[in-house]
Amino acid sequence: MNDRKQELAQRAAEVREALADAAREAGRKPEDVTLVAVSKLHPASDIRALAETGQADFGENYVQEALGKLEELADLDVNFHFIGGLQSNKAKFVAGNFALVHSVDSRKLAQALHKKAESLGVVQDILIQVNIAGETQKSGITVDSLPQLANEIMGLAGVRVVGLMTMPPFFDEPERARPVFSRLRQLRDELEKQLGSRLPHLSMGMTGDFVPAVQEGATMVRIGTRIFGVRPPR
Ligand SMILES: *Cc1c(COP(=O)(O)O)cnc(C)c1O
Repeated sequence: MNDRKQELAQRAAEVREALADAAREAGRKPEDVTLVAVSKLHPASDIRALAETGQADFGENYVQEALGKLEELADLDVNFHFIGGLQSNKAKFVAGNFALVHSVDSRKLAQALHKKAESLGVVQDILIQVNIAGETQKSGITVDSLPQLANEIMGLAGVRVVGLMTMPPFFDEPERARPVFSRLRQLRDELEKQLGSRLPHLSMGMTGDFVPAVQEGATMVRIGTRIFGVRPPR
């Protein structure tokens, strides 16, 4: 193993251990939380190295960068997640290429993904991103608009909603994000009743706040810096 591969393997193992501890503390099973390693702005060689140590899920934010990596890594048996802000005019590059799109926050975007997925003969799994704190500069649908958006998206055969995603405001103290995470779970529970269908996934928790996220029910955590180190500038 080269030095970088060893370093990545070590850091990912530490994160998995911390995730497992947080899950057990909350009476949950460690295997019920998927670690999505957020590799944006890090080279494809890092993804390959980490994949070779058994990491199966990777998150990317930028369409062009992600497509280049997908092509370069086509021989790997891993799941790519699209987690970044997505303009509907770029949805055609995303549908069918990613195991899960975490960042759907408008009817227009859902429709564009649906249209492309249908033309490919696939169903694209998606999460609805919710802006719980109502920060104006952040993407995500508002809490008030969530029920209607979810209802509309359920009518689109090319996409399947499998849960919700959120990104809390930046806090120095991870505990401060906990109410945001518990609120997402509550919204999910309400939405399941409203729609009469299961929404098994909650994508929440990053490097700074994954412990409370897992304790509040995250099924996917998106962790970049803790595994890959500080990101180079875009
Ligand atoms: C970059 C990013 C992450 C990872 O953040 P870290 O703090 O590096 O763990 C998670 N989720 C989203 C949506 C991101 O854009």
